[in-house]
Amino acid sequence: MTSAIEDQLAGFSGTIITADSDHYADAARTRMAAAAPAVVLRPADTADVARAVRFGVESGLTLAVRGGGHSVAGFSTVDDGVVIDLRNIDSVEVLPERRVRVGGGARWRQVVEALSPLGLVITSGDTADVGVGGLTLSGGIGWMVRRDGLTLDQLRAAELVTASGEVLFVDADEHPELFWALRGGGGAYGVVTAFEFEAQPADGVEFAALTFPAEEAESVVAGWAAYMRTAPHGISSTVVLANPMAGGIAAPVAVTLVRSDGEDLVDAIGALTSITAPLSTDAGRRAYAEILHPGAELPSGLSTAVRNGFVSPDAADAAALAAARAARQPQPGSIILHSLGGAFAAVPADATAFAHRGAELMISTFAVAPEAAIAAVRERSAEVWNDLERFVTGAYANSLDGTSASAVASIYPAGTRERLAAVKATYDPADVFARNFGARPASAH
Ligand SMILES: Cc1cc2nc3c(=O)[nH]c(=O)nc-3n(C[C@H](O)[C@H](O)[C@H](O)COP(=O)(O)OP(=O)(O)OC[C@H]3O[C@@H](n4cnc5c(N)ncnc54)[C@H](O)[C@@H]3O)c2cc1C
Repeated sequence: MTSAIEDQLAGFSGTIITADSDHYADAARTRMAAAAPAVVLRPADTADVARAVRFGVESGLTLAVRGGGHSVAGFSTVDDGVVIDLRNIDSVEVLPERRVRVGGGARWRQVVEALSPLGLVITSGDTADVGVGGLTLSGGIGWMVRRDGLTLDQLRAAELVTASGEVLFVDADEHPELFWALRGGGGAYGVVTAFEFEAQPADGVEFAALTFPAEEAESVVAGWAAYMRTAPHGISSTVVLANPMAGGIAAPVAVTLVRSDGEDLVDAIGALTSITAPLSTDAGRRAYAEILHPGAELPSGLSTAVRNGFVSPDAADAAALAAARAARQPQPGSIILHSLGGAFAAVPADATAFAHRGAELMISTFAVAPEAAIAAVRERSAEVWNDLERFVTGAYANSLDGTSASAVASIYPAGTRERLAAVKATYDPADVFARNFGARPASAH
């Protein structure tokens, strides 16, 4: 089978993996999902990606593009289809003026390793193993979100292979609508072979992890939300409630603070510990690499239930309290609050395809269960959302498993979705790149 595909892929210099290849089982699955593709192609360079896309289109099979393989919806593998796995296109090149060119298949660990010695950072997510591709194309909410905004706000240009196999350089001047769509529209427009970011200075961060008694959840989240509303933008923060790994509904309320503007966290810790006495405090200076989770593959046989929503300032207090109350009831996983605002909010809602700039909070739920039990877990999670949904105004594509139609529908407000659909109709009218939550082509409506 491999040799027949080789013939069709004339000139392809990367790796072709089919069911009869040695590493098929590994190559078929991602960090988060299992499937049985017809073939996994690992291109060696951009020209190979173009060959792989043309092969995918000509074969008529469904195409899946894989960056770091962390899509919780399982988009980066597909039964009976063609996977373009970018793992070998992963260089990180530091250019003049803090520009950084990153291969479309790189992971954040590689970016951090290259930039930390230079005192530079590109705000990412919280996990080193996650891919640059998927995280950037839909957002990127991490420990510097209030200082630097989303990861996509640092994107200055991209190299992209379109559905016709053409290689485009895309920035604010060249294909500006496509550049707008790449910043929030997901992987719906082509395969990004290189991202060009502007890195920011960061010489380590101030870090604090505080825990509080579970029974104080409501007063802690209310005090936290009030503090973060006026906190310096150099501070980003999350609250994790009901973490099953820390005791479920009895788990301490875990508040993390990260400060990246060169100042300390003394006032912030003082403000939070004045709400109620903490159970534990761990604070100090850290390298950026140290505060990222290494990440791990979801063990085979397990599945995830993941959902989120953005909350505007007028609903933030009530939503935070509802989340704290939900965390004290039997429910299947963690409830996580992200504080937004600052640089995240300073970007106009229509400047990129990520429109939810007015949100003060993001609320997420995250549960893991054996595949046989995941439907029941999702039902219980949906019950939590029955209460939370009235507070949310949109959803973050990167933290959705795709099972909530209403959450998926709220990723893009109507105006953004229409504009994305028009870009899609120009660059991928046949919807070759369909494994994402992006808008479908305008002509398909
Ligand atoms: C453990 C874990 C921690 C996470 N933490 C955070 C966090 O802190 N902050 C946050 O914002 N998100 C976080 N996420 C969500 C994460 O941003 C998404 O799962 C993201 O899509 C992963 O990107 P990836 O490249 O690893 O995934 P993949 O599964 O490879 O790709 C995801 C999507 O992007 C497309 N894609 C990927 N690369 C390219 C490319 N180069 N060109 C075109 N399309 C591409 C794929 O086709 C797919 O549709 C986390 C996820 C996990 C599992």
